[in-house]
Amino acid sequence: MSRIKGWCPGALRPMESGDGWIARIKPRGGRITSAQANAIASAAMRHGNGLIDLTSRANLQIRGIARDSYPTLIAELRDAGLIDRDIGAETRRNVILSPFADARAEELAARLEQLLTECDLELPAKFGFAVDCGAQRVLSDTPADIRIERGETGDLILRADGCETGNALLDMEQALQLARWFLDQHGAPDGRGRMKALIATGARPRGADLRPVPSAAPLSVGPVPQGRLVALEFGQCDGRTLAALARYGSLRMTPWRMLLVPAFDPLPGMSHLIQSPDDPRLRVYACSGGPACPQGHAATRPLARDLAPHLPKGAVLHVSGCSKGCGWPRKADITLTATPSGFFDLVRGGTASDLPEQRGLSPATISKAL
Ligand code: SF4
Repeated sequence: MSRIKGWCPGALRPMESGDGWIARIKPRGGRITSAQANAIASAAMRHGNGLIDLTSRANLQIRGIARDSYPTLIAELRDAGLIDRDIGAETRRNVILSPFADARAEELAARLEQLLTECDLELPAKFGFAVDCGAQRVLSDTPADIRIERGETGDLILRADGCETGNALLDMEQALQLARWFLDQHGAPDGRGRMKALIATGARPRGADLRPVPSAAPLSVGPVPQGRLVALEFGQCDGRTLAALARYGSLRMTPWRMLLVPAFDPLPGMSHLIQSPDDPRLRVYACSGGPACPQGHAATRPLARDLAPHLPKGAVLHVSGCSKGCGWPRKADITLTATPSGFFDLVRGGTASDLPEQRGLSPATISKAL
């Protein structure tokens, strides 16, 4: 019997938020067919508040679900092939696949998802796998504990996150063996823990001496060989936009607030959709904020949207509903952190919890401070 330690929301284990329940869907193989996209869009509009998040793990979240609607929503998503057999399988099946994956990489990811569904490993809830075996790596900045990549000689390698080198990968079972090694090495003593932290203690998988291919430069919106990358403003869109995108075919998820759409011409304008690499909203991060998040001291996205056109060229802005900084856990050129007073503190070159340069700014005075 498997047990999942820690806690992470899923579709079968929804999370309560300020705007209702949130159900997180993990698309198999990192993509959804047109029919699945339509099912998600329709469920979001009928059972939720119509909004859909794309998470930093390339999953989708339906927001604002009414408690009474939840069973029907799950039944509809199950009919669309979007629900796992049980909570254990759903929680373990943390696999991110490169959106540029070829058929071979898709096969590898499908095999890994099957093994994770069937195994009984007691992994921490946040423990994840990245299948990133193109000629260049694109997921090296995306959190994952075990990585399947291409080695410098072109063969597949299996790499523990935090290790610079990996082992030759001949069978996907090896990925589960590496996960078992993590547990045997006491990587998750109280049910929580990450591979990188274990590797930092000096632990090393035996014989890992193959170097992965280099990482690609960060990607932006625009054409790619498989279609077009389009970004969602703050990583969120509404059901109508998702349904409109579904008309182009299967959509591939990314962990960068972008979707890969199989379209080769620019798409018509749609709400929440960013198609120009010069759009300043690509450099703006804002969490759900209040009232959608119960911890939020103020609304964040309307302010972030208003400030975006005034951002200095190249600068990154983060507007956070509280000092937790979920929307951008890294440093930003400018961070505005809402405080219990409802006003904002301004941090330059830091995170939402760093010492502010100015305090108590209202939305009206912020533009001046910038
Ligand atoms: S940063 Fe605070 S307000 Fe924003 S989502 Fe996280 S907990 Fe909620």
